[in-house]
Amino acid sequence: MMKTRLLSPTNDHLDLCAEALQRGELVAIPTETVYGLAANAFNEEACRDIFAVKGRPLGDPLILHLAKDYPVAEIARETDLFTRLRKVFWPGPVTFVLEKTPRIAALLTAGLSSVAIRCPAHPVAKDLLRRCSFPVAAPSANPFGYISPTTAQHVEASLGGKIPYVLDGGSAEVGLESTILDVRDPHKIRILRYGSLDLTTLQEAAGDVSVELPPERAHQDPADHSPREAPGTLWRHYSPSKPLHLFTTRKQLKEILPNSKKYSLLFHTRPSGDFLSAEANAQVTCYWLSENGDQEEMGRNLYACLRTLDASPGEEIWVETIPPGPLSKALNDRLVRAAAK
Ligand code: AMP
Ligand code: MG
Repeated sequence: MMKTRLLSPTNDHLDLCAEALQRGELVAIPTETVYGLAANAFNEEACRDIFAVKGRPLGDPLILHLAKDYPVAEIARETDLFTRLRKVFWPGPVTFVLEKTPRIAALLTAGLSSVAIRCPAHPVAKDLLRRCSFPVAAPSANPFGYISPTTAQHVEASLGGKIPYVLDGGSAEVGLESTILDVRDPHKIRILRYGSLDLTTLQEAAGDVSVELPPERAHQDPADHSPREAPGTLWRHYSPSKPLHLFTTRKQLKEILPNSKKYSLLFHTRPSGDFLSAEANAQVTCYWLSENGDQEEMGRNLYACLRTLDASPGEEIWVETIPPGPLSKALNDRLVRAAAK
């Protein structure tokens, strides 16, 4: 077992982390989406360690994180569409997929000819990346398939003893993984993964270029094992250890919950007194993602709530699906995958 140090983001600690990355060590870092498990992207051995520590399959490619002035041409073939969109969305929770250059090892891209890149907006991530002369590969800092981490404590709870440093930058502001956009085709932006970017904003930025949504198929048929458009968008993901089920109306819930078990319920907004008083019989514990239906607040709270529910006495977790709104596609995407068997 390795000793894991939790570091506040002082200048000295940032230098220490940049040097550790330079040497090929792993550092968990805060970003505005979720915490990332970072390695020097030009050090293949270090990147191999990311897969080992997470138990991540080698077929699931990594996102490279860059300082704002990093020379992208070194690692990817820039397109006009990319150049236009990065001005709007970087730094921020949007990842672009472009053709890679030979500088990027096949290990990082799961053998694909493309590479995913992002310039994060979190001040601590920016400070750290400014100190690095290399891109930083960083998938979420959690064991593969489990709930993503949105605090340094979440990282410590599951990767403590396996990595030398966790840089503490507080709670993630967005709380959901980045939106992934394939911008290789000049006439079409393909959304590979929903994130916090809402479609209206994307469509405005796209102008004349069309926007293609991810295939619905992936959301409908868990038994479909045919090759996926976006590698790594595996069916079961973001999942707690306890069984997680979804429900769509509160009325329905009363009928479907057998009363022989203890339940943890997660609503999108505060439930009525009815549900809360049911807590009195100790059969259910109620949580909610937001007070008033603010979907950004739901995004910020989702993973922390799922972790709390996973640790609570309920034997099963029942989560209410998210009604239409700016982040409902991203939120429901994560919930459906978390509920998958
Ligand atoms: P995360 O695990 O949140 O860091 O996200 C990594 C995800 O980014 C992968 O699981 C893929 O879905 C996506 N990704 C990374 N690289 C590529 C690529 N070259 N082409 C398409 N999708 C990619
Ligand atoms: Mg992940």
